[in-house]
Amino acid sequence: MLTMGCAQTSRTTAIRHSPSSLVRRVRPGDPAWPSAASWDRLNGEVGGRLITVDSPLTPCQKAPASAACSEVFRRLKNPYYIGDEPALTQTSGWVDAWTSAPSVYAVAAASTEDVVAAVNFARESNLRLVVKGGGHSYLGTSCSADSLLIWTRAMKSITLHDAFVAQGCEGKQAPQPAVTVGAGAIWAQAYDAVTTKGGRYVQGGGCTTVGVAGLIQSGGFGSFSKNYGLAAAALLEAEVVTADGAVQTVNACKYPDLFWAIKGGGGGSLGVVTRVTLRTRELPEYFGGVFATIKAMSDASFRKLIARIISFYNDQLFNPHWGEQIAFQRNNRIEISMVFHGLNRQAAAELWRPLVDWVAGSPQDFSMERQVILEIPARRLWDYESLRQKAPDAIVSDDRPGALAGNFFWAGDHGQVGQVLHAYKSVWLPASLLESDQQARLVEALFASSRHWSVSLHFNKGLAGAPAAEVAAAKETATNPAVLDAFALAIIAGGGPPAFPGIPGHEPDVSAARGRASEISKAMGELRRVVTNAGSYVSESDYFEPSWQHSFWGANYPRLAAVKRKYDSTGLFFVHHGVGSEEWSADGFSKVRPA
Ligand SMILES: Cc1cc2nc3c(=O)[nH]c(=O)nc-3n(C[C@H](O)[C@H](O)[C@H](O)COP(=O)(O)OP(=O)(O)OC[C@H]3O[C@@H](n4cnc5c(N)ncnc54)[C@H](O)[C@@H]3O)c2cc1C
Repeated sequence: MLTMGCAQTSRTTAIRHSPSSLVRRVRPGDPAWPSAASWDRLNGEVGGRLITVDSPLTPCQKAPASAACSEVFRRLKNPYYIGDEPALTQTSGWVDAWTSAPSVYAVAAASTEDVVAAVNFARESNLRLVVKGGGHSYLGTSCSADSLLIWTRAMKSITLHDAFVAQGCEGKQAPQPAVTVGAGAIWAQAYDAVTTKGGRYVQGGGCTTVGVAGLIQSGGFGSFSKNYGLAAAALLEAEVVTADGAVQTVNACKYPDLFWAIKGGGGGSLGVVTRVTLRTRELPEYFGGVFATIKAMSDASFRKLIARIISFYNDQLFNPHWGEQIAFQRNNRIEISMVFHGLNRQAAAELWRPLVDWVAGSPQDFSMERQVILEIPARRLWDYESLRQKAPDAIVSDDRPGALAGNFFWAGDHGQVGQVLHAYKSVWLPASLLESDQQARLVEALFASSRHWSVSLHFNKGLAGAPAAEVAAAKETATNPAVLDAFALAIIAGGGPPAFPGIPGHEPDVSAARGRASEISKAMGELRRVVTNAGSYVSESDYFEPSWQHSFWGANYPRLAAVKRKYDSTGLFFVHHGVGSEEWSADGFSKVRPA
């Protein structure tokens, strides 16, 4: 048997004895589970788009050593295959936290009306409801056994506007270029329409297969967010189906409280977003990147190298041109994967030359193992044909027969596809740590942390150093205000290949996973020593995050909780550590606390 349920309770809240007045969602086999006739009625309402969810892993349970099972596990490294399977999620699970498990039924929604029918049915039948778009939740919030799934994959229409004004905002908002995207679209599709075909820029995520609606509700960062800001801050309007089955157009002028809350309040807690409209911007001439690996010969020289890199970042890169990552590794290497916009290759090379010369000047301490500086015309960054011809190693294509051309993802994301997580932690690092009298503390913390596990600083996921207008726009979202003063999000994480408990030969290595989780905890502990009042990015965070309300949303949580009570007073929408989830058992089936 597969471990069922996306939220095991081994290390989470125990279900208390609940008074009979408290809700308990029904499961298959319960007398109150909807009859076959009721499901038929729903199927009729959604035009035949109600499906029973069969897991592709079923053959593996019967014959784990079979060729069919091997093929399933091979395909679990293709995010497009996973995305097209309603039973699967992009992360297979998290050791000691959750295991991906299919819903009983799914409405493969093609329209807002389908979503309304599913929401009404779930509410009236007292079902555990789940919403899934791109399926990239690390916390397993887009799956649950014994549930009804609203699966938005088919809702992927994309429309460009030259002069969009949100409904009800006429005369209050200037018309502006924008794009309207269906809830099931992924960023590869949005970038193809907006940038490759439309010649403009939209702020989305780095990973091409992440869902547009899911990322916007997370807050959302892409490689160039240090210039263009939070993805959610670009939201001009959304259509939302609320728990009562009403369809609301929300924007700065209509339902501004719900509009604010879906900008970073986390997906799956407030309603079903059926479409989003995002502002688009002018493209710069070039995007580019600097990729390098520097090895230090000893611990002492690694400390020196960290100090030099941090001061170089502060002096040269702490501005809207630069984003993405530098990783400080246990093996005394620094892995640089930085991207730029609004510069060209030559300007980038000149800027980095002092660091390169400094490294070359101390061969006894350091060696530059790899160094590449690239530029690409901005319009070609997500152009599949161009990438296939000019940078084939940078991408991986969907290898299924008949797959759409354009189904690609970055080779750098391949390791994460289908993975089982062992641990994942993040913390926003305040820009005050870059001040000259603080840098030594930061350097020491990075060194101490890197003794346990590799630490990556994602500079594009903190808005300190971004243009003032982008910081101001981010303030108008529900995202933790810690992001405004952070120069980077530090992420420390580890995982293994796709694996499922109960399938011999394909089970997670639990003991190795626990060992890694322990090292990752120690690594994060070292960093947290220099961060007070730490915040963590809701979508890239720890399943076991203590004080998650504060970590994910800071001072915004009480306001978010009020919006939740107003639009979903009965708690139809539940996700692990989502707004209002403290009233529910860990699996979302039992109400353990009255509102
Ligand atoms: C490999 C990988 C790379 C990532 N890269 C980035 C990155 O570059 N930048 C970044 O900011 N984040 C990144 N993330 C995190 C990602 O943005 C979030 O997990 C996001 O919520 C995923 O959205 P989704 O639709 O793909 O996932 P899903 O798992 O389908 O959805 C995520 C949550 O949103 C809910 N949801 C989905 N669609 C809707 C809807 N239409 N209405 C209401 N609720 C909905 C789901 O119920 C779930 O709770 C990454 C995650 C992974 C696994």
